Amino acid sequence: MSALVLGHKNPDTDSIIAALAATHLLLARGFDVEACAQGEPAPETAFVLERFNLTAPKIVKEVADRDVWLVDYSDLAQAPEDFSKCRLQGIFDHHKLGDVTSDTPLECWIQPVGCSNTILKMVCDYYNVAIPADLAGAMLCAILSDTVLFKSPTCTQMDKDAALALAKIAGVEDINALGMEMFKAKSNLNASPRDLIFRDFKDFDMGGNKIGIGQLEIISLDMISADLKDALNKELAAVKAEGRHSAILVLTDIMKEGSEVLVASDDASKVLAALGANGNDAWLPGVMSRKKQVVPPLQQAFKA
Ligand code: MG
Ligand code: MG
Ligand code: MG
Repeated sequence: MSALVLGHKNPDTDSIIAALAATHLLLARGFDVEACAQGEPAPETAFVLERFNLTAPKIVKEVADRDVWLVDYSDLAQAPEDFSKCRLQGIFDHHKLGDVTSDTPLECWIQPVGCSNTILKMVCDYYNVAIPADLAGAMLCAILSDTVLFKSPTCTQMDKDAALALAKIAGVEDINALGMEMFKAKSNLNASPRDLIFRDFKDFDMGGNKIGIGQLEIISLDMISADLKDALNKELAAVKAEGRHSAILVLTDIMKEGSEVLVASDDASKVLAALGANGNDAWLPGVMSRKKQVVPPLQQAFKA
């Protein structure tokens, strides 16, 4: 049976396109692999797949007895429930080192850059594997998405170089226009409050506390009405009540380059203080990255 190349739960564009890119790379190197995802593409990813004529990876939620490659995560909390029963073969990722482990030596490509697809471009170059134009366009979009058009503090020179090289392969002349088109698709708020919270949501273990953090990146927070914010706060309380210490929703304004946080928590003041926020709904200027600006201060505050 083919090995599975699998991104994280609540897949974002990077995790889905990285599964396609890693599959392309590994097939070229002679591995028997297939791209998978733990869920349906979100609106942004659906736009990218359609724009570049790619098919969404097949959905897989069980990995027992399978060989597995991970893309865009290495945390058990973001893996399928039966992950301990699979055989981990390798990781392509750009997050903090997680808690998965392996029984045999494995291939690991983890770099502190803005996007997993930046790493995949680097590894394709390393193995001299050519990238088809459509895949290159989608990889470019993944970089634009994860780095929020190069504006996120997670963005590095390597991401910019990879994006330019991929744009060239894909024949994309106006990178910014493509990015804006993609973020317009991403700003689609036409979904239930629950779906909006879980569109890009990750659970973390922080000092023994389960803390879930969702992020919605939209072109302007003015698109979120007072009613919608109320509904999001209400649903967030329900999400917290499902066995979490805290449920947090980071509302990021791409154009203003900052975020507002909504918090439902056993200790909201601790969460807000860690994030440097004054009260709920506080505006956090310059905060765009969950990975770099939201998770680390919370992890620090909840360290046992
Ligand atoms: Mg991701
Ligand atoms: Mg990523
Ligand atoms: Mg992201």
